[in-house]
Amino acid sequence: MFQASPRGSGDDQRPTAPDTGALLAGARLLVGDRDAAAATATAEALRRYGAARVRTAASPHEFRAAEHADRGWDLAVCDSAFAGDGLIEFLEEWHAQHPAAPVIVTEDRPDAARAVAALRGRAADLVPRHDPDALAASAAHALAHPPHATRPPAAERVGMLVVGAHPDDVEIAAGGTIHRRAGDGWDITVLTLSPGANGGDPARRRREAHRAAESMGARLVMEDLPDGSISDDSATVRVIERTVAEAAPDVVLVHSDSDTHQDHRAVHRATRVACRQVPRVFCYQSPSATVAYRPNRFVALREEDVDAKLSAIRAHGSQASSRWYLEEDLLRSTARYWGRFSRSRYAEPLEVLRDAAPFRTH
Ligand SMILES: [Zn+2]
Repeated sequence: MFQASPRGSGDDQRPTAPDTGALLAGARLLVGDRDAAAATATAEALRRYGAARVRTAASPHEFRAAEHADRGWDLAVCDSAFAGDGLIEFLEEWHAQHPAAPVIVTEDRPDAARAVAALRGRAADLVPRHDPDALAASAAHALAHPPHATRPPAAERVGMLVVGAHPDDVEIAAGGTIHRRAGDGWDITVLTLSPGANGGDPARRRREAHRAAESMGARLVMEDLPDGSISDDSATVRVIERTVAEAAPDVVLVHSDSDTHQDHRAVHRATRVACRQVPRVFCYQSPSATVAYRPNRFVALREEDVDAKLSAIRAHGSQASSRWYLEEDLLRSTARYWGRFSRSRYAEPLEVLRDAAPFRTH
């Protein structure tokens, strides 16, 4: 459909590209601006250009809440000061969650430092903050040319959900498996139930966790349960069920019940309930697992999977110097040890809780 100018605007508006209205009409747009009135004005302008589904957020917190509530976003817009000095990390977080959805950064005045940050954060474009014509044209262009998708079609994709109590739990226990399966085209979600406030500043740990998940090829959902006193009650089950409903996994990995950490055991139990309909559920080995942990499935890892695991763990920079179980020689030799049980040099172990996959003899 040809649309020469925004709906309801006067003749003084610049004409738009022929399919701007059609592209915007079919897209779901998330607009963040540090000023709520500016966010609303931007959304209104996009609606005049044909956008039917636009949501606004006036803070990174609101933006993340909208981001996690829905995986169907097609495009995001945010101003360059929206996340303070953390623009690159903020954009990286978006890409990890929505790899096929471009993000456009708006800017009050041209500023080289912010242009570089937008570039490093792989923004699709940098446009003036109060120029709806430029934004609508840029949004239409970005929607017509989304980031290159290398993953197989959704119907063929296996979904895996990896649940952990604290940031870095899943990297330590299953980082190699996540990297290997992401390379196979699996759609992987990491669900971390607490931001790990006992281990340092939660905002920093959140940023580190997003970087780590992205480096393994997964997206991260981080919840806000209390570090050290996570329960296995219905509230925790509901929190996990929310991500299970949204990610619809075929495979779930979680802590084992044979673990000395009370949060890990609670997450194990709540996940068992929340994933009662998931056909394949396995338990990974945390550093706090006891000798009762009895793995009977081994995921073969390549050298590059072990390297990716170590680099994801290094992304948790706030923890690396203070935790004995993060020492690289221990992590590497543990993977080497479990390699004994697979036909490869390295492996990560799993305990089968349920495997309802069709039986194959070859
Ligand atoms: Zn933990």
